[in-house]
Amino acid sequence: MASELEPEVQAIDRSLLECSAEETAGKWLQATDLTREVYQHLAHYVPQIYCRGPNPFPQKEDMLAQHVLLGPMEWYLCGEDPAFGFPKLEQANKPSHLCGRVFKVGEPTYSCRDCAVDPTCVLCMECFLGSIHRDHRYRMTTSGGGGFCDCGDTEAWKEGPYCQKHELNTSEIEEEEDPLVHLSEDVIARTYNIFAIMFRYAVEILTWEKESELPADLEIIEKRDTYYCMLFNDEVHTYEQVIYTLQKAVNCTQKEAIGFATTVDRDGRRSVRYGDFQYCEQAKSVIVRNTSRQTKPLKVQVMHSSIVAHQNFGLKLLSWLGSIIGYSDGLRRILCQVGLQEGPDGENSSLVDRLMLNDSKLWKGARSVYHQLFMSSLLMDLKYKKLFAVRFAKNYERLQSDYVTDDHDREFSIADLSVQIFTVPSLARMLITEENLMTIIIKTFMDHLRHRDAQGRFQFERYTALQAFKFRRVQSLILDLKYVLISKPTEWSDDLRQKFLEGFDAFLELLKCMQGMDPITRQVGQHIEMEPEWEAAFTLQMKLTHVISMMQDWCALDEKVLIEAYKKCLAVLMQCHGGFTDGEQPITLSICGHSVETIRYCVSQEKVSIHLPVSRLLAGLHVLLSKSEVAYKFPELLPLSELSPPMLIEHPLRCLVLCAQVHAGMWRRNGFSLVNQIYYYHNVKCRREMFDKDIVMLQTGVSMMDPNHFLMIMLSRFELYQIFSTPDYGKRFSSEITHKDVVQQNNTLIEEMLYLIIMLVGERFSPGVGQVNATDEIKREIIHQLSIKPMAHSELVKSLPEDENKETGMESVIEAVAHFKKPGLTGRGMYELKPECAKDFNLYFYHFSRAEQSKAEEAQRKLKRQNREDTALPPPVLPPFCPLFASLVNILQSDVMLCIMRTVLQWAVEHNGYAWSESMLQRVLHLIGMALQEEKQHLDSVTEEHVVTFTFTQKISKPGEAPNNSPSILAMLETLQNAPYLDVHKDMIRWILKTFNTIKKIRESSSASPVAETEGTIMEESSRDKDKAERKRKAEIARLRREKIMAQMSEMQRHFIDENKELFQQTLELDASTSAVLDNSPVVSDMALTALGPAQTQVPEQRQFVTCILCQEEQEVKVESKAMVLAAFVQRSTVLSKNRSKFIQDPGILIPFKLKNSEGNRDCAYIPATMWKMENSFVPSVSA
Ligand SMILES: [Zn+2]
Ligand SMILES: [Zn+2]
Ligand SMILES: [Zn+2]
Repeated sequence: MASELEPEVQAIDRSLLECSAEETAGKWLQATDLTREVYQHLAHYVPQIYCRGPNPFPQKEDMLAQHVLLGPMEWYLCGEDPAFGFPKLEQANKPSHLCGRVFKVGEPTYSCRDCAVDPTCVLCMECFLGSIHRDHRYRMTTSGGGGFCDCGDTEAWKEGPYCQKHELNTSEIEEEEDPLVHLSEDVIARTYNIFAIMFRYAVEILTWEKESELPADLEIIEKRDTYYCMLFNDEVHTYEQVIYTLQKAVNCTQKEAIGFATTVDRDGRRSVRYGDFQYCEQAKSVIVRNTSRQTKPLKVQVMHSSIVAHQNFGLKLLSWLGSIIGYSDGLRRILCQVGLQEGPDGENSSLVDRLMLNDSKLWKGARSVYHQLFMSSLLMDLKYKKLFAVRFAKNYERLQSDYVTDDHDREFSIADLSVQIFTVPSLARMLITEENLMTIIIKTFMDHLRHRDAQGRFQFERYTALQAFKFRRVQSLILDLKYVLISKPTEWSDDLRQKFLEGFDAFLELLKCMQGMDPITRQVGQHIEMEPEWEAAFTLQMKLTHVISMMQDWCALDEKVLIEAYKKCLAVLMQCHGGFTDGEQPITLSICGHSVETIRYCVSQEKVSIHLPVSRLLAGLHVLLSKSEVAYKFPELLPLSELSPPMLIEHPLRCLVLCAQVHAGMWRRNGFSLVNQIYYYHNVKCRREMFDKDIVMLQTGVSMMDPNHFLMIMLSRFELYQIFSTPDYGKRFSSEITHKDVVQQNNTLIEEMLYLIIMLVGERFSPGVGQVNATDEIKREIIHQLSIKPMAHSELVKSLPEDENKETGMESVIEAVAHFKKPGLTGRGMYELKPECAKDFNLYFYHFSRAEQSKAEEAQRKLKRQNREDTALPPPVLPPFCPLFASLVNILQSDVMLCIMRTVLQWAVEHNGYAWSESMLQRVLHLIGMALQEEKQHLDSVTEEHVVTFTFTQKISKPGEAPNNSPSILAMLETLQNAPYLDVHKDMIRWILKTFNTIKKIRESSSASPVAETEGTIMEESSRDKDKAERKRKAEIARLRREKIMAQMSEMQRHFIDENKELFQQTLELDASTSAVLDNSPVVSDMALTALGPAQTQVPEQRQFVTCILCQEEQEVKVESKAMVLAAFVQRSTVLSKNRSKFIQDPGILIPFKLKNSEGNRDCAYIPATMWKMENSFVPSVSA
């Protein structure tokens, strides 16, 4: 068939080549109805050029199209031979200072970590190498395709927005100048005419939905009757399915089928059969039948060949427009104008709107062609970028909904352009105030998650596959919200305030649907049969983490906004939990003469949820009230009197008790889903807006209530109230209950509760809670990480939370707390904690996992032993609380606290039985230490007229109350000091007694009222051996438990990586600021050389250029330029060798494998030393 067709095609080609572009253009210039004239030309010629047979001939088609179709347009536009016309235009052009290079898939992109406004601001390689950022800390990634270079965009860079190349023009561009002034009236008019017709033609034909009928003005009489069977891409069917189906349907070879499938995947569609209608229809039905069994069938259309021809030319035309506007910014502006001009149907009828709204109906290839055109036109023109942004925002809801139901990846959706628009600070701000963008994004998101439980909360448990699919896709909206918020306003208008708060309202509605979601109930008796769904809720939480933090950042910038946001958040929290006492029985608790009313609620028996975003947001805002001092400046504007501390603390406390109970093994029957949730709750990715904020909320509550009341409520929620409220309960308890599990459980709960109190008093490193700044906070994180062990850069980064800009803030403080130890032969350089920072070590640092805590404890004790110091690890001296939280310290000297301390010490003194543990004692000792530090600090900073109200030393010197007449805490400590079974804690007890005496002396010297002193009674020693055996047994249990936990954790990590691939996507982080010292002495050959005199050896100057295998950058190898590293592995091989006894005599610059401790010329080539230093361990291979 093909051979028959050949001569005919050739005849057509000949007649086509006789066409003259100049003549056609001349005809058009005379035309009264240009549109009709052009359309007739296209109607006649397009089907003769495109789609003449079963297979496309792109080169020939393009050549003919240029000659017959595009040539006349170029002549028309220029009014002369375009070979002269375009260079003229180009010369007259004042090019934009924007680079705008569109990235191809896999192309390297660079972002400056010091100067980029956000991580989406990137440079192409050429611009990067010509910019100041090449000497900054930068990040290199490979583009997924679709973005463009931000060089020249002053909003994208804090410094150095231009590279050398794009800087040239900036001095001239003072103000925004209309680029049209560089064009003649005639050119403007003609360009406008031809662009309007061609752009409209392309849009019309690409969005044409009929399969065998052309638009009326393109129909011709002598139409051929050939069709294509067109196969479209989807993301449902696999390659194999498509290939198999094609072989069956169109009777092709496997190779051909693979070819078809590849093109379909790449371009989005491919004709798989050419012929008459019947013939194509037959193939279509086979394909549909074969692919519809389990899923929706593959999309196939039988299309008239002339429609396909026009569509192919439509695409060609769009790329042509893209290249033509490259000649002149004026042409570009005209195209923008044509594109955004409202069409005859009013709103949404501009060509740009029509393309966007049809996006999800277009095939991949068509989408990427017009997306590229948008990027090189609308997004490159400062004026039209704004107008386009408005169109995009107005269509936002529709575009996102189309995207959610479409199955193509996001990079093929117009919705993906949001990153280009929303990350421009001025545009984002405008869209928030003028288009209410924040609210629109959040509402659109909520609209797609309609499935709720009876209380209106999200319910992911019963999601169908379709709902789960939608949920995955709708998550990209959170990313859009992040883009909008990423650059914070420097000034606020009333409009911005109003619209932000409106958006905040919508955001609270979203959080409200999450508050209390996925509630769980403890499983008793039987183990659960099915692991409940938990990942969706956590995915949502994780994706929202940065958004929640950014919302707080925004609120922190304006006092009015902060006050309003606080009120709104409190109101929503009250809606969520206003009736938290409903149905619960009120009960009264009393200890040591204090009593409080609360409700009867047991975490172990009733529903509890780990998701409390509204409470946590309020906690964050409360801290901001303190940090910004709004709480002191405008107390009358705040609803502080409406706050009910018991209501505030209730749910966060339940959540923390849940964690304690899980740790105590009480929730074993609930399976792994719960273990995972607890893990993420504390994990570095989530904790900032989960665990950390729960601690803050409790701190907030305690600072507003009687600490005795708080402690009693806490005892009750921990289900430990009985133990501490009943004298001698412990003793009876251990003798009555023989079930060891229950005893062990209670011990763990007591330990956890004490740990929580330590955290509440000791965690004051969030600015606003304590008098610290952000630097102190990050320093402390690093100090504690390095207390575990020295760490490599990457390891350290992983343990610190990243902000929305992917920064940890580590670089700015690391020098202050750590030494960098250069890598030895084994590879990685390590950060080591400076010795003077060891005093800031807190054994109960709240971000330690159990394993980390025990490792850190071991390491720190070892260090102390090495320094020949005692091994006590006393609590560090802490910064003072901010005034709003100041009363929190009183928890340490409250009656109930003292009672708890006394009880635990009592158990330790009477150490027989199971009902206490060393950890428990250790925590009590730590708490006592904290109280002493606190008192000492108070005394040190006290002024004449103030009385120190913190009198812990006095209180612990008094003996217990009448009924049991127990000895004083101090006395018990003195007893324990000599207890042989507490060897490990001896140093700590000694430290406490020493500090106590110091304080006593300060008090005596400064005031007349001496501290009452009581002599402690000394208990006799008890049998030592029994105790030793017991400790050994415990150590063994602990070891087994650790092993089990480690195994669980690595399993969870693996799982997490599988689930969150993009989080772990590797970005190469290049640290350009430090470089390893390398000595690159020139290599001298071993022949005799003469240095001076007439016979001086001529050393030829060899210039050697090498290419870095990582960044592909060229660099000359010179002594004075940057050091280079060559890594190669040379091995002797006897393969292909004739003389097997010969050895390489002179290895030249080769370095023997067994190298002595090489300091100097470690290795050499083709990686600049700065890159060599990268942490990511890689093995460079040099292929010569
Ligand atoms: Zn560039
Ligand atoms: Zn540039
Ligand atoms: Zn920079």
